[in-house]
Amino acid sequence: MADELIISISGMRGIIDSNLTAPIAAVYGSAFGTFLKRTHGKSDNRITVCLGRDSRRSGPMLAAAVTAGLTSVGIDVVDVGLVTTPTASIMTTQLGCSGGVMITASHNPIEYNGIKLFLANGMTPPAPQAAQIKKIYVSSDLDLVESKDCGSVGVNMQAYDTHIGKVLGIVDKKLIASKKYKIVLDSVNGAGGPITKKLLAELGCEAIAINDEPSGIFEHTPEPTAENLTVLCDVVKAKQVDIGFAQDPDADRLAIVDENGRYIGEEYTLALAAMHVFGKQPGTAATNLATSRMIDDIAKQNNSKVIRTAVGEANVADAMVKNNCIIGGEGNGGVIDLRVGTTRDSLLAIALVLELMAETDRKISELVSEIPAYVMKKEKFAADSTVAPKMIEAVKAHFPNAKVDMTDGCRLDFDDGWISLRTSNTEPIVRIFVEAKDQAAADKYMDAMTDIRNQVT
Ligand code: MG
Repeated sequence: MADELIISISGMRGIIDSNLTAPIAAVYGSAFGTFLKRTHGKSDNRITVCLGRDSRRSGPMLAAAVTAGLTSVGIDVVDVGLVTTPTASIMTTQLGCSGGVMITASHNPIEYNGIKLFLANGMTPPAPQAAQIKKIYVSSDLDLVESKDCGSVGVNMQAYDTHIGKVLGIVDKKLIASKKYKIVLDSVNGAGGPITKKLLAELGCEAIAINDEPSGIFEHTPEPTAENLTVLCDVVKAKQVDIGFAQDPDADRLAIVDENGRYIGEEYTLALAAMHVFGKQPGTAATNLATSRMIDDIAKQNNSKVIRTAVGEANVADAMVKNNCIIGGEGNGGVIDLRVGTTRDSLLAIALVLELMAETDRKISELVSEIPAYVMKKEKFAADSTVAPKMIEAVKAHFPNAKVDMTDGCRLDFDDGWISLRTSNTEPIVRIFVEAKDQAAADKYMDAMTDIRNQVT
């Protein structure tokens, strides 16, 4: 099932030369354009879509195909080039576009690519709108236009400066620069390298960049997890820098390595950002059901509160807007601050963490040690969509006394931890997360899940 083409609220994701081809991308572009025309209301103004792509070698091919599809239904396209996902989202709103498209498969391996959609607010479409777009695509019910009405294609070169300007607007640039931090940055040959080096220079940091060439040929497995970042950890240690940062290929996620070369985990990125923001001003955070309890502890310490949503940045961002949240994001290293944008943003996360270090004058390892620790275990395995429902029934029966939340897959809460079991929105896999106060309890919960998996598959 690994080659299933996924169409979800995040857009479309598949394998190049197998199920994600130029003709498919063109029809998907036409379907998105048709949706925008039908939902835009009566207006004489032309409809414009902002288009960006990450560094994958298939990016220009898919961007050209999506552009063909959009212009064939009369949509004008503004191409912002090779950018990060948060940059494309920010440019969509900044340019007043009716929608945006980002060509990326995020952290997926090199054989994948994808087409991520944004609405005018820079957010991925909520489920009902995503379903409409999918229906138009599947039925090929496209509002093609005659020759004279075809869309135009333009280019905008302001994306990096616009995004960096937004991030610099919310931190004390002078204070951070006064610390002269030394940093190692691993951009895994994705879209993050050039713009993040520019941001770090603006913040007065001395950056040692590895895998910063946006070649799309990933030097290591791109998901920013511990096993993929051993080189980064080694370089941080050898060069004796203050902190190491790792991005995924479209640079919405950030993982952190402390000054001792220790991978501290993606879950800490949002926790540290929340620690910083709540430390200045109590408020509300939004995050998904599969994110660590660390943020709840931090909120409690700061008279703040946390709203939990289904997994997916659109769900988190939507809750943030509705509840005036001052920080939000997901435990995969994705931080959202609505002052900058409506998507997860590694550049934002970098700036917030550096400002936290600067304001407290503390090392990153010291800040991490202040956060109550949990043991989290994450597993994933290839499975079609029938597996998770069977496992959910079995797990509920196995833990009859757990507090059960079915907002997204299934979450079971216990006094000493929790389990989340869900089907991925973007890949044909099942994800199991467990978190507990100690290793033995985390092992106990994951072992139980492994047994249940073996029973139903
Ligand atoms: Mg990503």
